Amino acid sequence: MGTDGDACVDAHSGDCRGQVRGHASLGGTGAIIMRCDHHYGLALERAAAIDRRYPPHPPQDFDFLDAGEHWYEDLSR
Ligand SMILES: [Zn+2]
Repeated sequence: MGTDGDACVDAHSGDCRGQVRGHASLGGTGAIIMRCDHHYGLALERAAAIDRRYPPHPPQDFDFLDAGEHWYEDLSR
């Protein structure tokens, strides 16, 4: 980490391939993440796996009162 803003964020793993480009954050924050083609592909797979684990809607037994928090990150939209 340092001043090299064009480096892939996963460059430490040492198997970067393709062109490093800015991609919109997969977390939906709107941040731009620098990733090479190879690691962007891996990130997409990771995001897909997370989507499967945490569905967009609360499970039927999810109780907002018990959890004390919101299922949706941003209720203002
Ligand atoms: Zn990379």
